[in-house]
Amino acid sequence: MTNIDASNDNVYDVIIVGGGPAGASTAIHLAAHGARVLLAEQKKFPRPKLCGEFISPECVAHFARLGVVEQMLAAGGVEVAETVFYTRGGQSVNVPSAWLGGTHRRVALGLSRATMDERLLSRARDVGVTVLEESPCCGLIIEQESVRGVRLKAAGVERACRARVTVDATGRSRALARRIITAAAPHGERREHRTTRARPSLVAFKTHLENTRGDQGACEIYFYRGGYGGLSEVEGGRSNLCFIAAARDVRARGGDAARVMREVVMSNKRAARTLGEARVCAEWLCVALETFGRGEAVPQTGLLAVGDAASSIDPFTGSGMLMALESGELVAEVIARHLSSARRSMDSTSLADEYRARYEERFGARLRVCAWLRRAAFAPPVLSGAAASLLNASAGVRRVLARATRRGGGEALARQRT
Ligand SMILES: Cc1cc2nc3c(=O)[nH]c(=O)nc-3n(C[C@H](O)[C@H](O)[C@H](O)COP(=O)(O)OP(=O)(O)OC[C@H]3O[C@@H](n4cnc5c(N)ncnc54)[C@H](O)[C@@H]3O)c2cc1C
Repeated sequence: MTNIDASNDNVYDVIIVGGGPAGASTAIHLAAHGARVLLAEQKKFPRPKLCGEFISPECVAHFARLGVVEQMLAAGGVEVAETVFYTRGGQSVNVPSAWLGGTHRRVALGLSRATMDERLLSRARDVGVTVLEESPCCGLIIEQESVRGVRLKAAGVERACRARVTVDATGRSRALARRIITAAAPHGERREHRTTRARPSLVAFKTHLENTRGDQGACEIYFYRGGYGGLSEVEGGRSNLCFIAAARDVRARGGDAARVMREVVMSNKRAARTLGEARVCAEWLCVALETFGRGEAVPQTGLLAVGDAASSIDPFTGSGMLMALESGELVAEVIARHLSSARRSMDSTSLADEYRARYEERFGARLRVCAWLRRAAFAPPVLSGAAASLLNASAGVRRVLARATRRGGGEALARQRT
């Protein structure tokens, strides 16, 4: 039987569920504004995470504002000066990291998520956030159509925690948002409910490798039938291999990650060269993916979403962590303003309206651009030789496309298309 701890100590200004970059950055910024913050994470850090571990140059300015820039740059990460995209036949197109933007640094950083996420979470603790690890959220508290907090479970004890605002930072699982259902309960209240998931058409894999033969200082992206994958160095002389394959191709290989790497990823000529002698030196992580793109920034009054829980941008942009950090900063700014202007009772509806509008203004254009690029990326033949030659002919076009997946560049390209 589950014990329930319902003490009054469990009352906060803001509860954040999920300790990845979106949740940790939201928590750090809110603590700096003087808010009483609880962050609940289901895992114990450090933990490996499925990700390409390419930290784009713009993230460094965020690290500086979060007070972790020295710790991140001293963590043994590798400088990544460019990304090179390879067609199946071996033709290449390069995008220098400097084109992506970034005021503090012109190169990207290759650093494992185990290291990066642990440093962010530890910073949150240092600035006064109550951080609970191994505490999965197992339910929402919903009253009068508004989310008023969460139920957490740790070591067999269930704990009800209440807050004026709850933030879903649970990544692609959207674990909190999925619990909302629109069907009204008998007394007009919204019931909590787990929604069903669509059947995933893609599967992502990640591991760390030794003895790879990619170019030093380059993140290499390989296209092949049904997907693409990236190879990029991280700390400790290892390389991250992270790839997406069609679910049917994975099923045909019995879900065996190493076989998918050999038979699908290495059908790309360049990947066959760089991965031919590689040794796997970490566990394989695997996750089924439904799709990329928009979720809902405000799934319910009182519940705001950040990072991948709000929208997951396509991995080939190398900007998922950037969006996580940007949306964490944005939501913290909006919540802090509402908390300080209404110390006693907060108008959750105007908070939701403001966040929804500012989220759209900040991320709408780049998400639309990525939806167009996604169609091109998954269209057969993926990044054909002809397309590669065309892109190689114009550094200007490559630069516009690279910038379009970021703030400012997306808006400019969206304006040109309309
Ligand atoms: C194949 C692939 C490759 C990628 N490569 C890159 C890349 O190279 N560069 C880049 O910038 N981006 C990349 N991304 C995107 C990037 O990984 C995400 O955008 C980023 O992790 C989002 O951060 P987040 O904090 O929103 O979510 P996450 O990092 O997913 O963190 C969510 C956290 O919530 C916790 N959680 C989940 N459910 C619960 C619950 N019920 N209770 C408590 N805690 C919970 C999880 O344990 C996790 O720690 C890639 C994505 C994919 C799919």
